[in-house]
Amino acid sequence: MERKEQLYEGKAKKVYATDDPQLIIVEYTDGAAAFHGRKKGTIAGKGSINNRVSNDLMRLLEKQGIPTHLVEQLSDRETVIRKAQMIPLKVIVRNVVAGSLSTRIGMPEGTRLKSPVLEYNYKDDALGDPMINRFHALALDLCAPEELATIERYAFRANDILRTRLQQLDIDLIDFKLEFGRLADGTIVLADEISPDTCRFWDTETGERLDMDRFRRDMGGAEDAYQEVLHRLLEE
Ligand code: UDP
Repeated sequence: MERKEQLYEGKAKKVYATDDPQLIIVEYTDGAAAFHGRKKGTIAGKGSINNRVSNDLMRLLEKQGIPTHLVEQLSDRETVIRKAQMIPLKVIVRNVVAGSLSTRIGMPEGTRLKSPVLEYNYKDDALGDPMINRFHALALDLCAPEELATIERYAFRANDILRTRLQQLDIDLIDFKLEFGRLADGTIVLADEISPDTCRFWDTETGERLDMDRFRRDMGGAEDAYQEVLHRLLEE
């Protein structure tokens, strides 16, 4: 599979066309961005780690019945994916209070929730990805009601599968963000990535943060933390 013209360049990824109009190639870069692009930097080695972590977790979800955009990993940083029309929603699932939820409800980070919470952010950088609910999503016609029902089912199922898997690696899945797209035939697929950029991973024993918060909050050690996640996932 050969890379053709570049279609898009984002904060942490570049996307290329291929000979097949249904397939594209994503290249993960070391670019890091937070606070809707207001904080920018790099995390050395991140692209190759996120590519491999995300593909590993997507394969696991696919095996357990959640359709994904994944086709095959091409190289350390490149993966062939199915082209999908993206639904402009960030679907966030939370098991433990952290980040913006902690600020919003005034509860300390680390408070375990009685049941998982699903939130939507409307994907719009200029607006700062405002939080909306499912009624907004339907009223704004971001997707069809049946599609939203599928997305919610997949998001909660992904939470169960990922939590169980990560627990085995002494990683507590605090929260994460998913994005979905539709294929040409209308199938809803899990798209984008699942990585320390898009999840909060806390070490079960020490509570150490193994994710993007190390960059967002200038804690240092992001490179090592990302490497640690990959190591635990692939070296068993
Ligand atoms: N998240 C993400 N991209 C975003 C916003 C959030 O990947 O644009 C992830 C984030 O890494 C965390 C979860 O979604 O795992 C919940 O994030 P939160 O709403 O707490 O926002 P934050 O505090 O990260 O701004």
